[in-house]
Amino acid sequence: MTTPIWDLAVVGAGPAGSAAALGALRARPGARVLLLDRADFPRDKSCGDGVAPHALDELARLGIAHVLADRVPVRRLRLRSPGGCEVAATLQRPDVVIPRTLLDARLVEEAVRAGAVLVRHQVRTLEVRDGHVVLDGKLRARAVVGADGANGVVRRRIGVPRQPDGCLAVAVRGYAAAPPGEPEQVIVMDSRGWPAYAWSFAAGDGSANVGFGMLLPRLRATGRGGRAELHGRLRELLPGVEPERLVSHYLPLSTSRPRQPAGPVLLAGDAASLINPLTGEGIYYALHSGRLAGTAAVTESDPGTAYGAALQRELGRHLRHTTTLARLTARPGVVDAGVAAAGRSPGAFDALVEVGLGRGLITGPLLRGIASEALRKVGRTLQGAVG
Ligand SMILES: Cc1cc2nc3c(=O)[nH]c(=O)nc-3n(C[C@H](O)[C@H](O)[C@H](O)COP(=O)(O)OP(=O)(O)OC[C@H]3O[C@@H](n4cnc5c(N)ncnc54)[C@H](O)[C@@H]3O)c2cc1C
Repeated sequence: MTTPIWDLAVVGAGPAGSAAALGALRARPGARVLLLDRADFPRDKSCGDGVAPHALDELARLGIAHVLADRVPVRRLRLRSPGGCEVAATLQRPDVVIPRTLLDARLVEEAVRAGAVLVRHQVRTLEVRDGHVVLDGKLRARAVVGADGANGVVRRRIGVPRQPDGCLAVAVRGYAAAPPGEPEQVIVMDSRGWPAYAWSFAAGDGSANVGFGMLLPRLRATGRGGRAELHGRLRELLPGVEPERLVSHYLPLSTSRPRQPAGPVLLAGDAASLINPLTGEGIYYALHSGRLAGTAAVTESDPGTAYGAALQRELGRHLRHTTTLARLTARPGVVDAGVAAAGRSPGAFDALVEVGLGRGLITGPLLRGIASEALRKVGRTLQGAVG
């Protein structure tokens, strides 16, 4: 019996992998698409479970918006800055909060319904041989999408350097009862070991996803074990919350993204370090990059080059802006000014949300807001000094 040659093998069936399979099958119906994951679905994934509006757009583009039809839209966002400035406002477009156990299983189901062949298999080796990509010495494909997450093997096997520690965050997530009232997404920032913040994302069904995250070097600098620090800070910042099912995971931030190499092996989602450095958002990027990678894999003669260019075109400018903003907000005072500005101006609030959860840019209202808040602060300090 001859082993089939797959048009595309996708390693990892999280949001990036399912989107890659779906993107490929929409671009070339009838393509032979293999979807591999080391886990059986449903499976858990440590995450805040917040699905941003742009991710909803991506689901619509993939023709599967219905996977979230039963979820409650979450319209309120409350931010507390490191210095204690608080703003709560209505989002222009609502988010959805859905446990990843549910979301990822639904996405996989859609990919299979569209024609992908799902196989439980942990990929360990990859080589390019005779014009094909060979996985584990036996699975042959014309192209491979590495969507195998933060510790991905595909990235290592094609020689892309590992994520530098300085651009790696680590976060713990759990579940707890949601506070009463309208469901809100709450982010409580902390100046200790900044950037660091806790979150409570109400799902609208009485439960909330809660968590705490910080940069890996800052965590190490505390001298405490990761578990003690992350779990302890979560409880400190969200007093009264009794989280269960706490699980930690790494977040490779887009402030250090690898270059997509030419050729038949593409990286998408966390495997490509596509996580927003300001918020930890990664599901939208995973769906978006997965769709682009899957499409290029089955339609282009040099998928790597075509996909790299598409990613650059669609997200390049936004990613450069988030990197700049991450540098600026390394000073917690800038974040205090940004949150204060968001409290005064709906335009600045919307811009902040768009850059943190979508594909927004640093806009005039946001910059002017931050600058005038900073000036106000200087004014108050001077008044205090002379008065
Ligand atoms: C604590 C925390 C909170 C977060 N909160 C949010 C949030 O609220 N909103 C948001 O948008 N983003 C959030 N993120 C980021 C988000 O979770 C990721 O960006 C997203 O999961 C990326 O999807 P992915 O498909 O690239 O990778 P993953 O979801 O990690 O999927 C990778 C898949 O690959 C499989 N795999 C791995 N290795 C192999 C192998 N060798 N062979 C076969 N299969 C393999 C795994 O089993 C897994 O199913 C958070 C992250 C963390 C850690």
